[in-house]
Amino acid sequence: MEYLFAFLFGAVVGSFANVCIYRLPRDISLYQPRSRCSFCGQPIVWYDNIPLLSFLALRGKCRSCQSFISFRYPFVEFLVAALFVLCYLRIVAAAPGYPPITDPDFVVRFWFRHPDAVSACVIGCFFLAALVVATFIDLEYQIIPDSITLGGLAAALILSALFPWWHRPADVLLDDVLLAGRIPGLGWLAGLRAALDWIGSEWSPHARGLLSSLLGAAVGSASVWITGFLGKWLFRKEAMGFGDVKFNAMIGALLGWKVAIGTLLLGAVFGAVGGVAVLIRTRQSRMPFGPFLSLAAGLFLLFPQELFLLPEWWSGWVNRMLWE
Ligand SMILES: [Zn+2]
Repeated sequence: MEYLFAFLFGAVVGSFANVCIYRLPRDISLYQPRSRCSFCGQPIVWYDNIPLLSFLALRGKCRSCQSFISFRYPFVEFLVAALFVLCYLRIVAAAPGYPPITDPDFVVRFWFRHPDAVSACVIGCFFLAALVVATFIDLEYQIIPDSITLGGLAAALILSALFPWWHRPADVLLDDVLLAGRIPGLGWLAGLRAALDWIGSEWSPHARGLLSSLLGAAVGSASVWITGFLGKWLFRKEAMGFGDVKFNAMIGALLGWKVAIGTLLLGAVFGAVGGVAVLIRTRQSRMPFGPFLSLAAGLFLLFPQELFLLPEWWSGWVNRMLWE
């Protein structure tokens, strides 16, 4: 039942994601005017605007001019719906104390006692939807609008201050440093140590959440900027735009500094594979990097433990190959 609800809610948000994908790069307001056919300009009536179902009912054609509607519309709706179900499965259904669906006290026993899991799931769902919007705009226009990157960055900073538990798993090192009040080898820096001591013990969790978010944004943007700078110097070609710098700042602000680095590394691996595939098929070497960052960030949101264990698993495998 709750999976169906997650799917339907995702389909509705996916429908709004389509509006964002079409209107944001064209600088049209998201709210006015109401949806209309992009060929004949005829406004779309509400029963032709139901996610997924209307596309099937109309067999993919506009009711008034019979032009084919892009397959992207139902695809994005289905993708966002599926991501919402996956996010619910990974964040809420995987939380400790999640009762069986048949439990008559489900709402009382779980939803009200776990505002952390519920709020994390909602944040995660909208983050995934934003990644989908950024991906499709970047594929078509090679830009990621500021409303997603800078708007998302602002939202991530506020959410991190409001729901600091969101940052726990990703920012263990920051918390270690703050709570222990020291960085190894920097004991002689008495002033810094006193400052960290004070932040660790005196600051509220909300202030530490905001600090985690700021650190994530700084590491996220700096890592992409430095990589782009090195890439330009090595290959004498623009590898990453400033949009990607802002985009990874937003990802780091929401998911923490470790994921910001992980997203850049994993995104670069996906980008290398995708770039070669596109080069072979179309002989085109220009590739937006945003979709690969999105894919990596989405995977980090949904499978953080598995991805952070990957390097360990990999080195274990290499060791076995070499020594056994
Ligand atoms: Zn039409």
